[in-house]
Amino acid sequence: MVDLSGNVAAVRRRIEAACQRAGRSSDEVTIVAVSKTRSPAEIEAAYACGLRHFGENRVEEAEVKIPEVTRRLGDGITWHMVGHIQSRKAGRVAQLADVVHSVDSVKLAQRLDRAAAEADRVIPVLLECNVSGEASKYGFDAATGQAGSGLAEAAREILACGHLRLRGLMTMAPIADDPETVRPVFARLRALRDALQEGAPDLELSELSMGMTDDFEVAVEEGATIVRIGRAIFGPAVY
Ligand SMILES: *Cc1c(COP(=O)(O)O)cnc(C)c1O
Repeated sequence: MVDLSGNVAAVRRRIEAACQRAGRSSDEVTIVAVSKTRSPAEIEAAYACGLRHFGENRVEEAEVKIPEVTRRLGDGITWHMVGHIQSRKAGRVAQLADVVHSVDSVKLAQRLDRAAAEADRVIPVLLECNVSGEASKYGFDAATGQAGSGLAEAAREILACGHLRLRGLMTMAPIADDPETVRPVFARLRALRDALQEGAPDLELSELSMGMTDDFEVAVEEGATIVRIGRAIFGPAVY
């Protein structure tokens, strides 16, 4: 049996310690429990440990689980979509998700915007950035070229989307044995956000979604406001 409450307490302690090292308040860091592959019962147990933000990465799975968990627990959960979304599924995501972390193209943003308008919703979104340049990763290319130029262009187009609210950036760091090696990825995402913010002082680009089980402490030290944590809460991945 997985000791969920022990796991959640340990994650909170580690975030607290990372915040202390960085001179931050842990109130600034939201834990999104990434519940992909986990059952509604496991989500319910995590909810009982005080978690209120959950993340899913597949539309098909979210479509089944979110209504079921809502039936059991009511609508006190904020649901985050963190995985790649095919544009043709934007309509379903606009109905399900309260926050979308994985906006990786202007086309997807525009489809989400239209669907959100139809659903009479306004959806906070983050732009996913491929900071490391790995070909396997989704996101706006932030590894090469001018400092986030494609990103700034995309941000401008997304600002025209009346039913989306651009709130910040998201990234996934490469898998590494030593999380110190991915610190520059997180620092870079923060610098990209700062540059975007400077160019758009009327926006509130306060969110940096970065850090997972293997690297969340380093991410918090580098300014993460949202950490997306699966295994450290729910135990080893099951597929
Ligand atoms: C699965 C997943 C996570 C959580 O991963 P862990 O290493 O289990 O903490 C975070 N973000 C995304 C986009 C994911 O797909």
